[in-house]
Amino acid sequence: MRWKEQLLTLTPYQPGKSIESVKRQYNLEQIIKLASNENPFGCSQAALSALKENSTSLAIYPDGYATILREKLASFLQVGEDEIILGNGSDNLIQMISRALLHPGASTIMSTHTFSQYKHNAVIEGAVIKEVPDIDGEHDLEGFLTAIDDQTNVIWVCSPNNPTGTYIPESKLIPFLDQVPEHILVVLDEAYYEYVVAEDYYDSISLARKYPNLIVLRTFSKVYGLAAVRVGYGIANSSIIKALEPAREPFNLNSLGQLAAAEALSDQEFVEQCKQKNRQGLAQYYEFCENNSLKFYPSQTNFVLIDFQVEANEVFQYLLERGYIVRSGKALGFPTAVRITVGSPEQNEGLIKVLEQFLSEK
Ligand SMILES: *Cc1c(COP(=O)(O)O)cnc(C)c1O
Repeated sequence: MRWKEQLLTLTPYQPGKSIESVKRQYNLEQIIKLASNENPFGCSQAALSALKENSTSLAIYPDGYATILREKLASFLQVGEDEIILGNGSDNLIQMISRALLHPGASTIMSTHTFSQYKHNAVIEGAVIKEVPDIDGEHDLEGFLTAIDDQTNVIWVCSPNNPTGTYIPESKLIPFLDQVPEHILVVLDEAYYEYVVAEDYYDSISLARKYPNLIVLRTFSKVYGLAAVRVGYGIANSSIIKALEPAREPFNLNSLGQLAAAEALSDQEFVEQCKQKNRQGLAQYYEFCENNSLKFYPSQTNFVLIDFQVEANEVFQYLLERGYIVRSGKALGFPTAVRITVGSPEQNEGLIKVLEQFLSEK
């Protein structure tokens, strides 16, 4: 078969190890997975009850327009219904954007250490990829501007950034947006938006309404704790949305996801509680790092990237054998760091104990 050549150079996405496989391999009773930035507190009870009581027929196709969820989102975000596009997770939106704008004659810009799916999709579309080295875990936006060429169609900005957890302050983002030519789409991926506490963070929704070439991506997979049902959304002016819509699969949002997300949105108290508990969890890790003189990246997310100054896989394996799955920095471009999702207070405490044991054996 005549596959796209670039497809043969790719491997499928490597998710965090599954709990079941680790249990069997190491014969452990309990496994704690702090590898995929999932919410350790689950999801809103209201969303859960809605799913349990749900009367949606499984024989019927989902609402392709996601009417109820769309209405709720529009009113919650104070934007028009035609300024929203829904995705089967924000991964799906990244795919749609790539499909719509990238091709072998186009170039695209991203940071060297950022979410893997921008590059993955750009490779599939055959686009020229320009990766700009980051500066201490942060995007080099000046470098992004310098990388722009006549073929540039999409720029990917991940803030807060995965895997570093760092964010771009408003004072850097605005001058950047001012300088990007209007025919280039800037994608601002805010998967961790709800966790942000930084005071000099920007108001991305009003930016999306001001800049005609900006799309903001958010998701129900992280703080809302609904990763299993796959709901993400994009916010941009209606002409961007209109242009993207044909690249969306007709029924990309399943019925259960629509139902759960609409309920979850109404439960902002749950979101607020998770945000507070997350800051407390981060403080546990910061204290551990400070006590042991380990470098970490200050985080605006629900994970922290810690540099252990040894082979990342060594730390990863040590934790795995003791029942904790984290993410080795090796595949993320940080060969001596480990990315840890903030868990419940007990989970964090347990993991930190094992890390201390690791350090004392070193
Ligand atoms: C988790 C994550 C996503 C994907 O989220 P889904 O909505 O589950 O597809 C997108 N971008 C970043 C930066 C992420 O960390």
